[in-house]
Amino acid sequence: MSEQTYLKIRNIVGGKEVDPVSGDWIETFDPYLGRPWALIPRCGQADVEAAVAAAHAAFSSGPWSQMKPSQRGKLLRRFAAVMAENAERLAEIEVRDNGKLMAEMSVQCRYAPEWFEYFGGLADKIEGAVIPIDKPEMFNFTKHEPLGVVACIVPWNSPILLLSWKLAAALAAGNTAVIKPSEFASASILELARLFEQAGFPAGVVNTVTGYGNEVGEPLVAHSLVRKVAFTGGEIGGRKVYETAAKHFKGVTLELGGKSPNIVFADANLDNAVKGAISGIFAASGQTCIAGSRLLVQKSIEQEFTQRLVEFAATARMGDPKSLDTQVGPITTQPQYQRVLNYIDIARQEGAKTLLGGGKPDDPALKQGWFVQPTIFCNVRNSMRIAQEEVFGPILSIIPFADDDEAIAIGNDIAYGLAAGVWTSSIARAFKMSDKLQAGTVWVNTYRAVSYMSPFGGYKASGLGRESGQDSIYEFLQTKSVWISFADKVANPFVLR
Ligand code: NAD
Repeated sequence: MSEQTYLKIRNIVGGKEVDPVSGDWIETFDPYLGRPWALIPRCGQADVEAAVAAAHAAFSSGPWSQMKPSQRGKLLRRFAAVMAENAERLAEIEVRDNGKLMAEMSVQCRYAPEWFEYFGGLADKIEGAVIPIDKPEMFNFTKHEPLGVVACIVPWNSPILLLSWKLAAALAAGNTAVIKPSEFASASILELARLFEQAGFPAGVVNTVTGYGNEVGEPLVAHSLVRKVAFTGGEIGGRKVYETAAKHFKGVTLELGGKSPNIVFADANLDNAVKGAISGIFAASGQTCIAGSRLLVQKSIEQEFTQRLVEFAATARMGDPKSLDTQVGPITTQPQYQRVLNYIDIARQEGAKTLLGGGKPDDPALKQGWFVQPTIFCNVRNSMRIAQEEVFGPILSIIPFADDDEAIAIGNDIAYGLAAGVWTSSIARAFKMSDKLQAGTVWVNTYRAVSYMSPFGGYKASGLGRESGQDSIYEFLQTKSVWISFADKVANPFVLR
């Protein structure tokens, strides 16, 4: 491929567009066409050094370090407005780069600025405390200070939204940032990073490095001037980040994978539950951490519910993600496409029965893209690999249960704990299930709802820490305790009191 044919999208470091030090570029693909459409820089250690140096300089000297929290807040809110003005364009780039539906992305890109608006509002409401200390003639108070340079590492499935969750809070707290998007979908984030200058942010507050996890992600996490890593991604990357951060005593937020139970009771409104089950797994072609990939259905309605579910899911239109009529788009990356198809084989080998889909679509118009049919399996036991491992694709496993206790046991019998759905008309059951399910988010009679106001994060192997909601800003702050003596004399140190 000739490099000239494709658009080169550069990183932003210290307010300037920069080429990779190596001079190497990575092709970024359009998953609908299965073809490259642009090039992104292949960064390494030297690029990390430059980006962290720019972020550190902005943190420790220059206009950002002098700004009062209310000034930072205003800038963040201005950024939210600039981002909203560019929402449609950002959505188009993300659709082309990761194959998400335009129908979803245009809504998502109009909603993502709310994180900057909300955390902008919070920037000047972080208050310390005066401690009624138990010592004579002492005054003790606390203040919350920023950490320094924060690394924001994000995956390919919802680049702009997932970045906004961490970046808005990190900046509101007064930190500066180096962003590392996924090697598979960096384009929309690189475009977003350009908007900070337009909103009036000083150079160096927001910087980007692109490339592979081992080449650029690892040196970024290990860098001594990076004081916090906010990571969203898979289990393998998350573990590596945690290990490296531990070696350097730096804090992490880890937003990892899931294998969420979506539980339908016989007393539920079944029309709603069918829609909730479908949006839980087929939205974004199942490439969401919160995918309700284990559908637990009460035995007494299993047959009726399954039939209604399959009939509805069979109507899903696959096609060009840019078209507003399309309901299921392609898989974002070629390795992920192979992985999803592989899991279909695994499920069949384990004895699962295919009720819908189960492979590549027949439509010749979809042949060039990385499409997998919406697939529903029954005859699944919770111990099977298809029920235990995160597939990250449009694959749903139906698992029957008898009663509340069995639903809770199956729901919790998993390494993950990101989310759970419950469909019931009983308020008592709604409370009981939300109490007993081991998940960072429990939805009752809805699925996939998220907001900048509500904390999001995982139990168990789904992660550490929370994003969104007021408390999440403390993930990016450290508490200082200040002691001031107003005694006239300092006591004799050799006389114990
Ligand atoms: P991934 O872990 O492969 O990559 C995520 C990011 O980490 C990428 O930018 C990658 O380059 C980088 N990375 C990989 N190894 C690294 C290392 N050793 N050091 C530093 N950086 C490294 O994940 P993915 O395949 O891009 O995304 C899919 C995964 O993300 C799924 O498991 C999904 O569940 C998870 N996810 C979680 C949430 C959540 O909020 N909990 C949201 C979306 C996706």
